[in-house]
Amino acid sequence: MPETTSAPRSLPLTDLSDDEKSFRELVRDFAEERLRPLVRKMDEESKIPRELIDACFDLGIMGIEVPDQYGGAGATFFMSIVAVEELARVDASLAVLVDVQNTLVNNALLRWGTDAQKARYFPKLAAEWVGAYALSEAGSGSDAFALACHAEDKGDHYELTGRKLWITNGSEAELFIVMANLDPSKGYKGITSFLVERSFPGFTVGKKEDKLGIRASSTCELVLEGCPVPKENVLGEVGKGYKIAIETLNEGRIGIGAQMVGVAQGAFECGLKYAQERAQFGKPIAEFQAVQFQLADLATEIEAARLLTYNAARLRDTGAPFVKEAAMAKLFASRAAEHVTSKVVEVYGGYGFSREYPVEKYFRDQKVGQIYEGTSNMQLLIIAKQLLGKM
Ligand SMILES: Cc1cc2nc3c(=O)[nH]c(=O)nc-3n(C[C@H](O)[C@H](O)[C@H](O)COP(=O)(O)OP(=O)(O)OC[C@H]3O[C@@H](n4cnc5c(N)ncnc54)[C@H](O)[C@@H]3O)c2cc1C
Repeated sequence: MPETTSAPRSLPLTDLSDDEKSFRELVRDFAEERLRPLVRKMDEESKIPRELIDACFDLGIMGIEVPDQYGGAGATFFMSIVAVEELARVDASLAVLVDVQNTLVNNALLRWGTDAQKARYFPKLAAEWVGAYALSEAGSGSDAFALACHAEDKGDHYELTGRKLWITNGSEAELFIVMANLDPSKGYKGITSFLVERSFPGFTVGKKEDKLGIRASSTCELVLEGCPVPKENVLGEVGKGYKIAIETLNEGRIGIGAQMVGVAQGAFECGLKYAQERAQFGKPIAEFQAVQFQLADLATEIEAARLLTYNAARLRDTGAPFVKEAAMAKLFASRAAEHVTSKVVEVYGGYGFSREYPVEKYFRDQKVGQIYEGTSNMQLLIIAKQLLGKM
């Protein structure tokens, strides 16, 4: 993959640099040729085939921002957004696997990892290891810092005990960023991030969720029973895990915005085509103004969602403040995806309700966009805090 720079800010947001354009084409071709033929089977079997994940590594989309010295592409955050959008246009499950890898796991390691941690994990994350990000628990979701998973200092290592829930990539991952509290008396200031390898003793991946949408993406419970973690596997500083959690999710949610833009776009393209093919009252339904207006409205919503998402990503790449814009992008894009996919089901009429056609899956897949990496209410809270100067 070529080295890239983000397009200069004076350009329109959707005006991609040559590198960005060719990268988009690369991912789109991959999604059409390798992913699309497998989508239905993956959904039915609730599994992403390992060969497809290996193909993502080969394509260079599992280490987009990973510096080239470690085998990554050394590209921008915006490129991750392009990859996630393009994959989600075809399948939201593979999109979220790639999204978590790049915008959460690699991103956190890039920002807070020591040189030794980068040297140990980046070559694996760019070439063969899937990563996962484990914050949520049964009792702590929106109130993430109420987490009960705890760490104990055992002198030459830490010991982690507790359970995590809803962990994306749980089935496939080899490396887990796990948040646990080292000193609950300090409240959220005891939370620390640990790099936990799947092979560590006392660590097991538990039940896999049976879900409404993104069924091929694994969402698992993690069980830690006195799991020993070497001292050098603390990510960032002891007691600063809360900061890592907040800051990675601030960035990660731009990826979810991109996933939702991709889902909406994929569904919309189906609707646009179908409306020109399906005839009623002696003509294609796309000739009815009511249908035309509906398509025009949906296209406008997708464009607005894309602009918000690209803007947040480009702000992040240029080092400008982006937290409010990222929350707005996820909030708006997930609402747009819900509306667009629902209306496309209607454009298909009864066929939209059938599993024989692709649109019901887009409708199921979008719903999670309003839940993970902060529910829509949490996004509203972040935006309001920013507006009121409380963050
Ligand atoms: C498919 C899937 C994959 C996931 N992947 C991961 C992952 O990889 N890693 C990870 O750590 N987590 C993951 N999650 C967890 C996800 O981040 C949480 O589900 C999410 O943060 C919401 O938490 P909760 O489910 O406990 O809901 P709750 O926090 O119980 O919220 C329930 C409802 O109450 C509302 N609510 C709660 N508090 C407030 C408030 N103060 N003001 C207004 N409304 C409020 C919420 O908006 C929501 O509507 C995943 C979840 C799913 C479904």
